Formats: sequence, structure tokens, C-alpha cells
Amino acid sequence: MRKVVVKVGNVEIGHDGEIIIQTMCNTPTADIEATYKQCKSLYSKGAQIIRVTTQGPKEVKSLQQIKDMLLKDGISVPLVADVHFSYNVAHLAAKVAHKVRINPGNFAKDHKTARKEFSNLVTICKEHGTSIRIGVNHGSLGEHNTQKYGNTPEGMAEVAFEWIKMAQEFDFDQIIISLKASNPLVMTKAYRILYDKMLDDGILYPLHLGVTEAGNGEEGRIKSALGLATLLKDGIGSTIRVSLTEPPENELPVARIIADYFSGNPKMVKSNLPKDYFCNSYQEFIIKAACDYGPLLLDKELDDISIKAYINGAEVGKEQMERFVDNLMQGARRRFTKPEYIACPGCGRTLYNLEEVFKQVKERTSHLVGYNIAVMGCIVNGPGEMADADYGYVGEGKGKVSIYRGKTPVYRSVPQDEAIDKLLELIEQDARNRVFLPRNG
Ligand code: SF4
Repeated sequence: MRKVVVKVGNVEIGHDGEIIIQTMCNTPTADIEATYKQCKSLYSKGAQIIRVTTQGPKEVKSLQQIKDMLLKDGISVPLVADVHFSYNVAHLAAKVAHKVRINPGNFAKDHKTARKEFSNLVTICKEHGTSIRIGVNHGSLGEHNTQKYGNTPEGMAEVAFEWIKMAQEFDFDQIIISLKASNPLVMTKAYRILYDKMLDDGILYPLHLGVTEAGNGEEGRIKSALGLATLLKDGIGSTIRVSLTEPPENELPVARIIADYFSGNPKMVKSNLPKDYFCNSYQEFIIKAACDYGPLLLDKELDDISIKAYINGAEVGKEQMERFVDNLMQGARRRFTKPEYIACPGCGRTLYNLEEVFKQVKERTSHLVGYNIAVMGCIVNGPGEMADADYGYVGEGKGKVSIYRGKTPVYRSVPQDEAIDKLLELIEQDARNRVFLPRNG
């Protein structure tokens, strides 16, 4: 068995027992000053790799400047260009960034072009020492791939494997693979299938793990922790990103607790399942308990949990503990007591105050148990990435919002201050007309 170690700038990914943590800027990359400042802040809070939105040639130039400014400060944190919908931009970015993230679902309009342009990208990456993340997303597998393999965890793994084979054909091994989904069941299944395929094939490439669009607050942390832990406990995964609809700085302590929990000997954790937690913060408790119990609930090895927790010596109260258990059960898709939310973390494409709007949407839709509601930052990737949402609030930019039923935009260009009302109106109208009814969970 060959285990590939991938170099991303001065960081190596793929060493046994080591988990690298990363995050992504939510500033527009063309705003060089803001992105530079955010990179510095994220680096100081422990980000080992930072990704930035790279929509076009302008952002590639900004990325070069940001990289230079950071280097002047003595910060050589690896920078990753996040590229969608343009192999030309990927080619340009590969000369500047330490790693380029591409999405097989939107890299090129047809498979023949994708092959040719991926080969060209590999040539540039070899020349510049740049690595590539083959970033498959459940919500944006692309038409070609969905038709060929199905929009399923198996399909996601097949797509990734096809691109691994292409990279091998082009004699390039500096690739990292991700198979993200907002549903931890879909995500964990996809990674497990791909991991087994790589084992059978004899070459293990590093896996970048993430539960995408996990939302915010306690739910977002729990959903992320349990999804990541389900894989990390079995030694699957070399780098993680916790995506929260919050300032990216908030992702890092969460990712750090998870990474530290599983670094070294991952299999130890499962055999020492704790009943009582003694932690320094509530956040530490929920993440560690989600890491311990989440995988067992998700894999149906356990049906419920009963634990105690002490934060700096004080016991966590009954109500708070019940809320934690409810969130954990829902994150593991075992018991639904509130609506399920899909919310992107926001990035340089976001054109409105996503964090604030998401909070408002949660408040106003909290009664809609059994519904899956998405809040997405942009119209470019949002509709594709919101996967199996029943309804979606998608930012169009300039104070305008589109309201979706599934994949269909029902209302376009709704002024932002009326958009939550419109979303609720559509949901209620659909329920009355029996167009869409909530599932049982
Ligand atoms: S949906 Fe749009 S705004 Fe949200 S993270 Fe993805 S690209 Fe960024």
C-alpha cells in the first residue's frame, strides 16, 4: 500500500496520525486589505491552510498581492485558490496559489474538455509545485457525472475515483480529495466508499474532510464534529475544515479540538467511551461528546445517550443537556425535533449579511419541523450546493434574493427586507395546496 503525502506550500498532508486544520476567508478576494487582514487573523488563531475565493483573473492578481504582503510579515501560511466554473482561472491560479481547489462538477462543460484542461492544469502545477484538491460536492456533481453515476454517495466516490485515475494517467500524485455533503450520512458513506476503493487500488491519497453547509451555533458544531469523527476514528482523513455560518475565526477552535482528539491513535477513543465529561468550556464538551457518541448514533450502533457533563466543576443542567442530546440526535439523523438547516459558510462571493439573515430565518421558521431549509450566500453556487433542501433563500446580490422550492426558483429578485416573508408565504401556500408537505424526519 502506498500512502501519498501531498505538499501544500510548507505544509505536508497525509502523514499518519496528523490532522491539518484549515478554513476559508469570507472576504471578497479583490478587497486585498480585508483579505490580507483576515488571513493574518486566521493564521494567528491556528489556521494551517487558508482558502480564498478565486472567481477570475482579478482575484488571482489579488491573491498574489495578499501572498506577498503575508510573506513580508513573515507569514508563509499556504494559500488555496477556490475555483469554480473556469479552468482558465484554475490555470492562472496554479501559478500563484500553493493549492488549487477545483470542482469536477463544474470544471468544464463536457468531459472531453475537462480531461484536456485538467491535463493542462497538471502540467502547470508540476512546473510550479502546486497541489490540487479534487473537491467533489454532493450538491454540485454536475450533469455529466450525475447521469453517469447518479446523485448518490456511490456516485460522488466514482467521480472522485475517475479524477484520481486521470491524475495518475498524467503522472501527478499531488492531489487531495474531498467529498463534501451537508448530510453527514451521505458524506460519511461517500468517503468510506472512496477510501475502500483507494485501498483496493493500492494507493491512498490524503482526504480533506468536511460537512458542508453545516449551519451555525451548537447544531453546526455538533453536525460537523459527528460527521468528521465518524471517519477520523477509523483513521480516515488527513485534513479538516469545519464550516460554520459564522466568522471563520470561530471555526478554528472547533477544528482544533476535533483534530487533537483524533491525532495520534484514533481507534483509542471508541474503546474508552466516557459517560461523564469534565471540560473547560461548554463548546469543548459538545464537540467531544459529539465525537464520541455521534458516530455510534449515525452508524446505528446506539439508539440514545445518557451522559453527564461538568464545565469547570459545575454540572450542565437538565434543559441544556436535553438540548444537546436533541441536537446530537438530529445531527445523526436519528430524531428530528426542529427544521433541518443547510447554510453555507459564506465566502468572497457572498453579497449580503449571511450570518444575520440566517439567524433571522432560523427564528422565523423554527416551527417548521420536518422541513429542510437552505440559506445560501450566492446565486452562482448556492442553488447547486443546497442539495436536498426543500426550500431555499439564495442571495442574488444588491439587496435581492431568490426564493426556491427545491431546485426551482419560484420568486426572483425579491427585495431582501421582504424575502423571509416571501419564503414563509411560499411554504405555507404549498402546505395548504399540498404541493409540498413536511417529511416525518
Ligand atoms: S454558496 Fe456561494 S457564497 Fe456560499 S460558500 Fe458557496 S460560493 Fe460562497
